[in-house]
Amino acid sequence: MTQYDVIIIGGGAAGFSSGIYTSRRLLKTLILSKDIGGQTALTTEIENYPGVDFADGTALMMKFKEQAEKFGCEFDIDEVVGIKKDGELFLLMTATGKEYVTRSVILAFGMSPKNLDVLGEAKFVGRGVSYCATCDAPLYKGKNVAVVGGGNSALDATEYLGRLAAKVYLIHRRNEFRGDEILEARVRKLKNVELVFESVVTEVVGDDRVRGVRVNHVTTNEQRKIECDGVFVAIGHVVKARWLGDLVDYDAIGHIHANKLSETKTPGLFAAGDVVSGSFKQIATASGEGVSAALRCYQYLTKTTGRLLAPDWDIKKK
Ligand code: NAP
Repeated sequence: MTQYDVIIIGGGAAGFSSGIYTSRRLLKTLILSKDIGGQTALTTEIENYPGVDFADGTALMMKFKEQAEKFGCEFDIDEVVGIKKDGELFLLMTATGKEYVTRSVILAFGMSPKNLDVLGEAKFVGRGVSYCATCDAPLYKGKNVAVVGGGNSALDATEYLGRLAAKVYLIHRRNEFRGDEILEARVRKLKNVELVFESVVTEVVGDDRVRGVRVNHVTTNEQRKIECDGVFVAIGHVVKARWLGDLVDYDAIGHIHANKLSETKTPGLFAAGDVVSGSFKQIATASGEGVSAALRCYQYLTKTTGRLLAPDWDIKKK
């Protein structure tokens, strides 16, 4: 089994930035990620990444990936589902059954969409249940869809779907939105959007694919079945990191504790970007944290392996 110097889990802004830096330090680096670009790739208009006036998220992330690969960083689409520490090495297990050995790990897998946790949701993922309007909306041209949520993601999804679908039901558990007024106003103007307030989805129903949702009015308890071909869940994001067990500490909402040097409580295990407690969740901050984690990881490996992997002014001082 090939042994890596560092495996980076997550191929978003933080992960690729780490990969650029570790590869340039000649560390044997592999990025394992469920997707290319993480949440950034789902953003169509980026105007606040310094030095870049305007970018499409997917295009920007492809540039990050190409830059990392240019310096020798390897990349594979796979989900890491298990991790064990064995002495100074880490063993990683993936969803496709592969195993990897590495001297260090950078956790940069960001946030995942929050689930509704209702009957039928998991069963119909990919068969009508979606967490990404940007990716899947075009599949619902001329069809009826439901969007669940009351924040900017749900409003964004509704506006986008409103231009393609025959009808959009926007289901929200309260009677006021928490998104931007400007988005709300645009959504309210759409003739084919029905606002279903004070309602929660209790079940996603279907046969071989989604055919509708059951909703419950939160005050009257009245039940209703809405017939639709797709359900877009847009109720926020969470960090899904508990599979790391006690190798890291978590805050109250499940984010990973890491210090300013990106170190977790386990030597050799670093964290960067949105997975970290208190992070600002910006592309620029995630990139910066990815770079910090890479440099700290490099220092750690230099110390533990006793080899100067590449010249570095910072290391010479130590
Ligand atoms: P969010 O702002 O946290 O909103 C989540 C929405 O889902 C809330 O309305 C919440 O209801 C509802 N919700 C949460 N859990 C639920 C559950 N279990 N069942 C039913 N409803 C549930 O999340 P977001 O919309 O993904 O936005 C996240 C961040 O990204 C925000 O800062 C947002 O401004 C930003 N964003 C910006 C844009 C943009 O500027 N165009 C686009 C997308 C996202 P309550 O209101 O009752 O809590």
